[in-house]
Amino acid sequence: MDRRQFLAALAALPLALKAMETRSLLNLGDSLPRSPRMPVLFVGHGSPMNAIEENIFVQGFRRVAMEIPKPQAILVVSAHWETRGTQVTAMPKPPTIHDFGGFPRELYEQQYPAPGSPELAAEVQRLIQSNPVALDHSWGLDHGAWTVVKHMYPNADVPVIELSLDRTLQPERHYTMAKELAALRDKGVLIIGSGNMVHNLRMVAWGKINEPFAYDWAQEADTRMKQAIRSGDHRPLIDFHKQGTAFDLAINSAEHFLPLLYTLALQGKGEQATLFNDAPLAGSLTMTSVKVSTD
Ligand code: ZN
Repeated sequence: MDRRQFLAALAALPLALKAMETRSLLNLGDSLPRSPRMPVLFVGHGSPMNAIEENIFVQGFRRVAMEIPKPQAILVVSAHWETRGTQVTAMPKPPTIHDFGGFPRELYEQQYPAPGSPELAAEVQRLIQSNPVALDHSWGLDHGAWTVVKHMYPNADVPVIELSLDRTLQPERHYTMAKELAALRDKGVLIIGSGNMVHNLRMVAWGKINEPFAYDWAQEADTRMKQAIRSGDHRPLIDFHKQGTAFDLAINSAEHFLPLLYTLALQGKGEQATLFNDAPLAGSLTMTSVKVSTD
């Protein structure tokens, strides 16, 4: 190789490296075998105590897991991982994060040792084109993920990764970005949005905890949200900040609502959105959960 050939080879190197990188990412994509289309879920996760309590909600999580094919991997969009910029957990062994305070010791002793999936994280990074996605090595599974998934797959034998909520994005951008994940549904990946549709912790009515709804606004928001979900008209939900007082109070900080937009954005033509765990809690919360599927 003379000097000219050497320089030409050098100039071509970045392209060659790029091609190698693309090829290895394609291979990673191929490592997830094709599957029948997986449903998509939104789960109302409620109190972290659901991790260790027996109640109708955890029974609902178990039941929905029985209804759907066992996934190859799970991607959770959790209300409890808010970031600037989108991130995806990419470690092989995500730690169980106890991101809450003032609960019994038994809850802090809980571990959910599901593996991660660096391959799936790379695939998510490749699929999302509308927004840069960074691979994260410091987060793990927060309680929005593990307190629910542990009831669905108690043996912790399904890899779980998390996608963060980029709070610099408008709701429409979350909805658009979620659609870019659609191909994962055909590769055995169960996508779960985890939050609570009606969620106003400042207005929890401790004195009326057993009453269905302590506030008219909570009931109104619950009814209108469910109407929109059942009809497949997602526009009022994407534009939730334009829907008046009931929505403003029900979605007062939005992080528990935004994961719902990821689930609904993935609803394909001819797919149904059915509700489960459809119940209010503590006056200003709902546990209402959604399954998007063809049946
Ligand atoms: Zn929460």
